[in-house]
Amino acid sequence: MDSTSVFEIQKKGILLHRLVYIIYLLQRVLLQALREEVSLFNTILIVVSIAVCFIAEEFSYRKNYFDSVLYVKILRYTQCIASVLMIGFMQMYDGSEVAIISFVLLFMIDFFLAMEVSDKEKVLSCVAMVGVPLIVVIVIKMSISLGYEWLFLFFDAIILLVVLFFEAYYFVDYNDKKDKLIYSQQRAFDELVEKNENILNMQDKIKNTNFQLNIQKHDLQNANHQIQLANKEMVAQAEILHYISMSFDMSKISNQITESIMMVRQLGFCGVYIKEGAYLNKHPNYVIKTTMGQLHRKIKDSIEDLYTEVVERGETEVFLHDDETSRIPFLRNVNINSVYMKLLGTEEENYGLFIIGDSRRNLFRDNMSFYDVIMAQYDIAIQNTKTYNEMQQMARKDGLTGINNRIYFNQLFQENVQQVIREDGCMSVALFDIDKFKSVNDTYGHLAGDEVIKCIATVAEQCIEKYNGFVCRYGGEEFVAALPNTKLEVAQPIIEELFDEICSKVVLYNEYTIPISISIGLTSYPEICKNPDELLKRADWCMYYAKEHGRHQINVDDGSIERV
Ligand code: GH3
Ligand code: MG
Ligand code: MG
Repeated sequence: MDSTSVFEIQKKGILLHRLVYIIYLLQRVLLQALREEVSLFNTILIVVSIAVCFIAEEFSYRKNYFDSVLYVKILRYTQCIASVLMIGFMQMYDGSEVAIISFVLLFMIDFFLAMEVSDKEKVLSCVAMVGVPLIVVIVIKMSISLGYEWLFLFFDAIILLVVLFFEAYYFVDYNDKKDKLIYSQQRAFDELVEKNENILNMQDKIKNTNFQLNIQKHDLQNANHQIQLANKEMVAQAEILHYISMSFDMSKISNQITESIMMVRQLGFCGVYIKEGAYLNKHPNYVIKTTMGQLHRKIKDSIEDLYTEVVERGETEVFLHDDETSRIPFLRNVNINSVYMKLLGTEEENYGLFIIGDSRRNLFRDNMSFYDVIMAQYDIAIQNTKTYNEMQQMARKDGLTGINNRIYFNQLFQENVQQVIREDGCMSVALFDIDKFKSVNDTYGHLAGDEVIKCIATVAEQCIEKYNGFVCRYGGEEFVAALPNTKLEVAQPIIEELFDEICSKVVLYNEYTIPISISIGLTSYPEICKNPDELLKRADWCMYYAKEHGRHQINVDDGSIERV
C-alpha cells in the first residue's frame, strides 16, 4: 500500500479512536465513582495508557509519521500489546475487559489495513473471531447480573458496536477505493496499451511513409540525373548545330561531334569514318576518340573494312552486346561489352560509318535518341559541306578544264606570297602558253583545240601538285604554275619534267592526232625577283622571250630579260 492511502486510513481511524477513548474514559470514571472496590491504581493506569495512546497518535498525525507504513505498523502493534497488558492488570470485576478487547480489535484492524490486507474474508474473520465471543460474553454477563453491571456492559456494547460498525465501514470504503483505483489503473493501463498500439501504428505509418519518401527521393534523384543528362545532351547538340552552321570543315565538325559524344556519354571509344568523295573530299576522313589508348590505332586501321563489311551485310544499324562484340576483330580480348554501329547516309547512298562502344553492359538498349539526333545533324553537315564544296569548286575551278581558275590562283598566290615573306622563304613561278594554238583551232576545229587545252591542264595539275605546287588556267591557252618553297635550281628540273610530259602527249581527236608544244618562262624569288609581286610579270617576260626565240622551250630567268 502506498503512503498516501495509509495516511488517509489512519486519519479517519484517529477520529474513531478518540470516540472510543472518550466512551471508555467515561465508563471507567463512572465505574470508579459508583464502586468502591474498583482499583484506583488500575483506573490511573488505564487513563495513563489512554493518554499515551492519544498523545502518540496526535504526535504521529501532526508530524505526518503516518506517511510511513512501517511506523504505522509499529505503532499499532505497540498499541495492541499495550491493550493486552491493560487486560492483564485489571481485576475481572472492573467490568472493563470487553472495552479493552475492543481497543485490541481496533488497533488490530488498523494494523491489518496498514499492511494492506485486502482480503475481505480475512479481515471480517478477524473481526468476527474477537467480536463474536465478546458479544457472547456481554450477553451472558447481562443475563446473570442485572445489577449495576448492566450499565458498564451497556457502555462496552456501545464501544464494540462503534468499533465493529466503523471499522466495517472503513474497510468497505477502503476496498471500494481500492477497487476504483484498480479499475482506474486498469483503465489507465488499457488506455496506455491503446496509446501504445496507436503509437506503434503511427510508427508503422511513419516507417511506411519514410519508405515511400525514400523511394520518391530515389526516383527524384534518378529524374534529376536524367534531366542533367538531357541538359548536357541538349547543350552538346546545340554546340554541334552551332558548329555545323559556322564551319564547312568536315574534319573539325567530326572532331567536335565525337568530342561532344565522349564528354556527354563518357564512352570507351567513338569513331567516325567518312569515305572519299562524300563531300568532295579527296581522302577518307577518320576521327577516333578513345579512353583506351591501345584501341586508337586498331580502330583507325580497321574501320574502313568494318564499313565495307556492314555495307555488304546490308545492315544500316548494328547493336552488339557482350560476346557478340567479338564479331569485330579489334575488340577481341578488350573490355568492351556494348557496341553500336550506324551507317552514315542512307542504305542506298551511304558515305561512312559511326561506331561507339563501352565496357558497360546493355548500354545501347535504349535512350538512343541522342545519337539519332546527332546522326541527323551529321547528315546535314555532310550535305552542307558537299554543297558548299560544289559551289566553291564552281567558283574556283575553270569550267573547261576543271583546274583552278585565275581568280582562285590569285588568292592562293597571295596567301603563299604572304607566307613566303613571313617565313623568309622562296617561290618559283612558271608561265606557259601553247605554241601556234591558233593554227590548231584552224586546222582541227575549236572543239579539238578544247581537248588540247584540257589535256595540258590535267597533265600540268598532276605534275605540279606532286611537288606541292598549284596550277591554273591563266587565260585562253595560257597556264601558270607556282611552286612555293622551291628554289630556282629545284624548280628547273620540275618544270623540265612538266615540259617533257606535256610535249610528249598527243591528243587524239576524231581521226586526228594532234601534237602539243608549249613555251615556258620560269623565274624565282628571291634569286631573281627582288619582290614576290614581280614573279608573274617576269615569268610572262621570260615566256614571251621563249616565243620570240623559237618556241618549244623553257626560258629560265637569269635577271637579264627586260620587258619585251
Ligand atoms: P603563239 O605561239 O604565239 O602563242 O601563237 P598562238 O597562235 O597560240 O597565238 P595567239 O595568242 O594569237 O592565239 C591564241 C588562240 O587561242 C586564239 C584563240 O582562238 C585560241 N583560244 C583561246 N581560248 C580558247 C579556247 O578556250 N578554246 C579554243 N579552242 N581556243 C582558244
Ligand atoms: Mg599561244
Ligand atoms: Mg596566248
